[in-house]
Amino acid sequence: MTTVSSPPVLAGSWIDGAPVSTGGPTHAVVSPATGRPVAEYQLAQPADVDAAVSSARAALRGWSTATPAERSAVLAKLAKLADEATADLVAEEVSQTGKPVRLATEFDVPGSVDNIDFFAGAARHLEGKASGEYSGDHTSSIRREAVGVVATITPWNYPLQMAVWKVLPALAAGCSVVIKPAEITPLTTLTLARLAGEAGLPPGVFNVVTGSGADVGTTLAGHADVDMVTFTGSTPVGRRVMAAAAVHGHRTQLELGGKAPFVVFDDADLDAAIQGSVAGSLINTGQDCTAATRAIVARPLYDDFVAGVAEVMGKVVIGDPHDPDTDLGPLITLAHRAKVAGMVERAPGEGGRIVTGGVAPEGPGSFYRPTLIADVSEQSEVWRDEIFGPVLAVRSFTDDDDAIRQANDTAYGLAASAWTRDVYRAQRASREIHAGCVWINDHIPIISEMPHGGFGASGFGKDMSQYSLEEYLSIKHVMSDITGVVDKAWHRTIFTKR
Ligand code: NAD
Repeated sequence: MTTVSSPPVLAGSWIDGAPVSTGGPTHAVVSPATGRPVAEYQLAQPADVDAAVSSARAALRGWSTATPAERSAVLAKLAKLADEATADLVAEEVSQTGKPVRLATEFDVPGSVDNIDFFAGAARHLEGKASGEYSGDHTSSIRREAVGVVATITPWNYPLQMAVWKVLPALAAGCSVVIKPAEITPLTTLTLARLAGEAGLPPGVFNVVTGSGADVGTTLAGHADVDMVTFTGSTPVGRRVMAAAAVHGHRTQLELGGKAPFVVFDDADLDAAIQGSVAGSLINTGQDCTAATRAIVARPLYDDFVAGVAEVMGKVVIGDPHDPDTDLGPLITLAHRAKVAGMVERAPGEGGRIVTGGVAPEGPGSFYRPTLIADVSEQSEVWRDEIFGPVLAVRSFTDDDDAIRQANDTAYGLAASAWTRDVYRAQRASREIHAGCVWINDHIPIISEMPHGGFGASGFGKDMSQYSLEEYLSIKHVMSDITGVVDKAWHRTIFTKR
C-alpha cells in the first residue's frame, strides 16, 4: 500500500526575525501543474500586520543608522546565501507557480541574486548636489535619509523577483519592511526572509505577513504607522492600494499591468521578429506584465508573420514544469485559465481570427495552448485589456505614423518593442512610444543596473537600478547660516525698521 505524505504546514509569517503562526486558517499552496497541494501554511491575520509593523518600527532606528558599509555587508552576504540556496529557491518557485524549471533556473533565481548583489553595492552610493553657499549667507547641504517603514504588496507571477525588487532597495536605503506576498505563492518570500536573518539582518527589519488581499492586504496598505506603500500587481488593485495609502498621505510606488506593443516595420528581420514575438508573448506562460501582447505588423510582412508565429507556437512543448524539456507551464490557477479562455472565446465575435491555440489540453493542471489571434479590431477586448496568458493578438499598420499611433493607443505604458534595421525608425520609435521601456529588435530582457517601471495605467516609480533606491530615500535640505548676524538680509521683508 502506498501512503500519500501530507505537505508540511509552515508558519505563515516571519515577524521580528522568527517564524510566527497565530492560528489563522490553514491555506494550501497548490501546484498549478497538478492541482495538488505542495505546502500548507497558516494565514496571517490583521493582528499579525500590527505586530509586523510594530517590529519594523522598532527596528528602523538601528538599521537606518547603520553605516552604508554595514548594510552593504549584510546584503552581500544575503546574495551569497541566496545563490547557495538556488536549488531550493528554484524548487519552491516551480512548485508554487508552475513556471518551467529552465525559466526559474536561468532567470528568476539568478536575476534575483544579481539584484540583491546590485543593491549591496548601491547602498554605498548615495548621491546629491554638492554642499555650497548657494544663498551667499548660508551653507546648504543635502542629506538622504531612509523613508522609514515600508509596506510592500507583491503578485504571484514572479514571487521571488518581485519581493527582491521591492525589498532590496528599501533595505539598501536603510528602511525596514513588511511584505505581503500573494497568498497563493508565499514560499520563496518566506525563504528570502529566513536567509536575510542568516545573513545578519537584524530582527524586525524584514517582516513577512501572508494572507489574502481582502484582509491582510487592505490592513497593510491602509496602516497608519507605515511611511510608504509599494505595490506590484493589477491596475485596479493598485489604485485601491493607493487610495488606502492616501488616507494617511503615505508615499506610494505602483508597478501595475501592461499591454505591450510589438511593432514590426517592413524592413525588419522577419525571422527574428517571429521568434522574438513568440518568446516575448509566451514567457512565464504570458503572465508577465511586459509580455508582447499586441503585434503591430507592416502590411507587406503581415501574412508571413502570422504564418511564422503560428508555426513556431505549434512547436512549443507544454508539460511538467519540473522537466527541463518543457517550454510552457500552466497558468497560475484554473480560475485564471477560465478568464483567459473566456477572453479568447469572445474574440471571434469582435472580428478576431484564432489562427492557432484557443484551447486547453486534456488532463490535470491549468494548462492552455499558445494562442495567436489575427485581424483583431482596435476596440476588441483582446486588443485593449490585459489577458495575462499565452496569447498574442495581431493587427497590421499602413505607415509609420499609424504604427506609432496604434502602439500608443492604450491606457497602459509599461514596455514596448520596435523591430527595424533602419536607425531613424528605431530612434523615432524609442522617442515616441509612450512606455517605461522600449526595446529595439528584442523584447523582455532586463538588467539590474537599469530601471523598470511604467507610465499611465501601468503605474509610476521605478524598480531595479539606482532610480529604485531613490524611491526609498527622502531628500533633506540642511541650510546653515554663516553670517552670525541678528539682522539677516531677508529680514527686510518683515521689518521696515528695527
Ligand atoms: P493582484 O492585483 O490581483 O494582486 C497583487 C497583490 O495584491 C496580491 O498580493 C494580492 O493578495 C494583493 N491584493 C489584492 N487585493 C488587495 C487589496 N484590496 N488591498 C491590498 N492588497 C490586495 O495581481 P496579481 O493577479 O497577483 O498579479 C498580476 C498583475 O500584476 C498583472 O496585472 C500584472 O501586469 C501585474 N504585474 C506588474 C508588474 C510590473 O512591474 N508592472 C510586475 C508583475 C506583475
